[in-house]
Amino acid sequence: MNGTPTPSLRPIRLVAGGPWAVGVLVAACSGAGAPPAPSADATALAQAVKDQIATDELMAYSAAIAEHVRPSGSPGENAAIDTIVATLEARGVPVAVHEIMAYASDPVSASVSVPGTDFNPRAITMAYSAATGPGGVEGTVVDMGGLAELPRLETGTGERLVVEGESFGAELPNLTGAVAIVDGQPRNVPTIVLERMGAAAVVFVNPEERLNELIVTSTWGSPSLMNYHRLPTVPVAQIARSAGEELRRRIAAGPVRLRVETELSTGWKPMRLAVATVEPEADAPFVLLGGHIDGWHHAATDEAASNAAMLALALAFHEVRDQLRHGLRIAWWPGHSNARYAGSTWYADEFFADLRLRGLAYMNIDGVGQIGAKRFGATASEAFGGFAARVVEQSQGVEIAASRPSRNSDQAFNGIGLPLVQFNHTRLAEDGGYWWWHTPDDTYDKIDGDVLKTDTDLYADALAEMLAGAPYPVSLSEQVAALGDAIAARDEASGGALGLGEQLGERMARLRDAAERLDALASAGRVRPLEQVAVLRPLHRVMYVPLNVYHPDPGVALGPLPGLAPAAVLADENANPDRRGFAASVLARERNRLVEAADDALAELHRVLTAAEERR
Ligand SMILES: [Zn+2]
Repeated sequence: MNGTPTPSLRPIRLVAGGPWAVGVLVAACSGAGAPPAPSADATALAQAVKDQIATDELMAYSAAIAEHVRPSGSPGENAAIDTIVATLEARGVPVAVHEIMAYASDPVSASVSVPGTDFNPRAITMAYSAATGPGGVEGTVVDMGGLAELPRLETGTGERLVVEGESFGAELPNLTGAVAIVDGQPRNVPTIVLERMGAAAVVFVNPEERLNELIVTSTWGSPSLMNYHRLPTVPVAQIARSAGEELRRRIAAGPVRLRVETELSTGWKPMRLAVATVEPEADAPFVLLGGHIDGWHHAATDEAASNAAMLALALAFHEVRDQLRHGLRIAWWPGHSNARYAGSTWYADEFFADLRLRGLAYMNIDGVGQIGAKRFGATASEAFGGFAARVVEQSQGVEIAASRPSRNSDQAFNGIGLPLVQFNHTRLAEDGGYWWWHTPDDTYDKIDGDVLKTDTDLYADALAEMLAGAPYPVSLSEQVAALGDAIAARDEASGGALGLGEQLGERMARLRDAAERLDALASAGRVRPLEQVAVLRPLHRVMYVPLNVYHPDPGVALGPLPGLAPAAVLADENANPDRRGFAASVLARERNRLVEAADDALAELHRVLTAAEERR
């Protein structure tokens, strides 16, 4: 943290392209009225979109973006945004550019050295590390081994999640004044653990002979009064594997003093967020497609290539907009890496009502177009799991199972309750994996034009169905089934002490029945997509967000029903009795939130099913 100017409360908006730009905060009524629009031929539409997207064009856009080094808020990022905006405007696609303030952390330099010796390997610091100031900090090295060997912090819930509760956990070793070294890529949870032990500095040893740019804060979005206390106070650096081996050779011969110096530029800075709009008509429900425009170094596959795919998709869907029944918003997020999802979180905050009333889904794109990519996959919330797998099978002839989203990838919209989906196409470990990820080697030559075209087409297939097909491909039954499994799993983790079955059992039975009816009516074209999402929303929120849907939860994955993560404390016979009591209080409230979510979904289901029956 440093003393940079305070941002204004009102976001400044530079709006290019006309009055469509700033969100229309009044939503269309999703209730009664005409039945859903007739089904367009999504397959033919997808083909029309794919036919417009040429490999050469994708590669030209990729080159124009990857040419620039793009930490967020930099001239390089702005130049890439200018290229995207100019291309959209030349083809008549409405685009707004919002100027936002975001709390970013740019690593400047780091050194890790043994004073008085020649040990001074290449080192970097991580975004949101504390800065040491000139001269650095010095301490005796303590070798903590690998990440898996670190003491586990008890995970509480809510704003002080992870941090909260650790004083009730096992006795932590005292590292006061020491410099901890640990094998593994720098991440937020191990940083918190070592900070809580009192380490003067933390040095991560990369398991490979490279340095990967990473972020060590557990805040999500620009910090607020609710969570700024989560910003790390410990300096963090990273050295490569061979440097770690050399350091351990020296430790084996006797105690070693290590000096760590880190320099960062951390504070509020302006960034630009470009959002293109494809609309069949004003105020149509829409799918939000997002990917980050900033990246580390030239960020060619992470993710100039994805940005190019987004641009090509925006242009192509704009040409067929009169055949769509839903709109498409395409957002190039700033602040993904060096501001920890600040751009997408700003958008969720500022367009909350619009997204809540007209949003149909959040679709993320990241890392497509890699040379040598061989394995297809999808990450999707349960309501889109079947859909995502079907699209990959129909498009690529490959059977996959979609995996549940962890906590990453600009998932700023879980609090709003939007189901989410992302398609992946990755390299195999035996081919060396994605070795250039977050390094200066992520350059244009890592993009394969044919792979990028294939991946862009996969997104076109999925989007065509979401924007023009019928029924809207979201499954309430799958979401309800996953919720039932999650309830059972949290109950079991508590050793039955939660007793969720008592309050949820009958509600879940009613939800299952009603969800089946709703999905059947949706298949028959008698339910509007916004109605499907309205029923889904309370269930998605409770499945993905702990405690509070308005303030972002930390960037830490806690699994399904994250608010009930402390359930295991109840089953722990060795738990400190105070801590058990504190956990029980949180769990009672989170149980109540779950009950309310089920009731809200049931009430919405009743309303939607009644309306659908009347459309018979
Ligand atoms: Zn990425």
